[in-house]
Amino acid sequence: MSKDPVILCDVAPRDGFQVVPTWIPTETKIRVIEGLAAAGMKRIEAGAFVSPKHVPQMADTAEVHAKVRIPDGTSLTALTPNLRGAQNAFDAGCPDIGYVFSVSESHNKSNVRRPVAASIEELGLVIEAGKDVEGFKLRVNAATSFDCPFEGRIDEDAVYRCIEQVLAFDYPVEIGLCDTTGRALPDHVAGLCAGAIERFSGGVANWAYHGHDTFGLGVANALYAYDAGVRVFDASVAGLGGCPFAPGATGNTASEDLVFTFENMGIETGVDLAKLLDVAEEVAALPDTDTGGHIRIVPRKRVLDAA
Ligand code: ZN
Repeated sequence: MSKDPVILCDVAPRDGFQVVPTWIPTETKIRVIEGLAAAGMKRIEAGAFVSPKHVPQMADTAEVHAKVRIPDGTSLTALTPNLRGAQNAFDAGCPDIGYVFSVSESHNKSNVRRPVAASIEELGLVIEAGKDVEGFKLRVNAATSFDCPFEGRIDEDAVYRCIEQVLAFDYPVEIGLCDTTGRALPDHVAGLCAGAIERFSGGVANWAYHGHDTFGLGVANALYAYDAGVRVFDASVAGLGGCPFAPGATGNTASEDLVFTFENMGIETGVDLAKLLDVAEEVAALPDTDTGGHIRIVPRKRVLDAA
């Protein structure tokens, strides 16, 4: 029996780059994004429209979107936590929005300095504005859906309440259940993913899982999410990233680790592992990057022979 394919979204150019303290030149960002697209990555989170004062590394996102050249069929998403960022994204020719809020009150306050309810309310304004934009597509990232650096484990019901409010806008949306700290365990991931899919089935939502590999559980968690019915996965080439609130964090689950695992299990990703590893090497060689993942450090021949 053939297994459902997956869609990977590489978030290195946002979740990964945003924590790199040394400025990454715009041309380098563009080269990495184009390399990911050439490797077959169908979705790429290319930057964020956020305050350049708070996240200086994302200051050139509009320029990146203006100059990057990607093949048809590949989409670039830009992350934003508010209406102003969404409008900047639309103005920059990016109709594909990743809107983020945190399920945990304290994380949302520390991240975007307002209550969760205010973030969700503003999502309604983003949707209204987006309806006038050609090609508008919406991913809503529910950060800290599993664990919060301040509050610990997040109650499933708190996540469901947030999702309910998002779905009340009655606009097609992909909801990203995000393990922001990488602290979730596989059974927790499976439980929340299956619970959300079941509870909100038949609605306007599609589901994605966004995991970090802090405790070495990134791949396992993704597989449990897959078993629970999730088919869209965020990952980061070279495992780039790191969470400022989780010391020792190794960033997002490495894209190459997910490609290796899914493909060897007969689950298509559409990504060329050898080409992806070339991009991983380039990203890992950038100054001041915190990389992770496993496949990149295994001798290349062994990886490809096994694939
Ligand atoms: Zn993340």
